[in-house]
Amino acid sequence: MPQSKKDLRKLHQKQKVAAGVAPTERKAPNTQAVCTACRAQFRTTKRNIEIYEHWEQRHGTTHTFDQCFPGETSERLGAAAQ
Ligand SMILES: [Zn+2]
Repeated sequence: MPQSKKDLRKLHQKQKVAAGVAPTERKAPNTQAVCTACRAQFRTTKRNIEIYEHWEQRHGTTHTFDQCFPGETSERLGAAAQ
């Protein structure tokens, strides 16, 4: 029994999603971190090396990392704590 056009479209969409072709919700968030001490803006990354180095070089003696970038974390921060 032939499928309707509507059913075929649904089926194709399902196949696309299964194949990873269709757009998904997987888009990475393009967030920015703003240094609360000097208002410098940085694009946050998974590792956040850049903001860590900014904090360390500019505010390391006067602020904690959390004070400069509340809510952010860095790969370096974890390494330093160990
Ligand atoms: Zn700063």
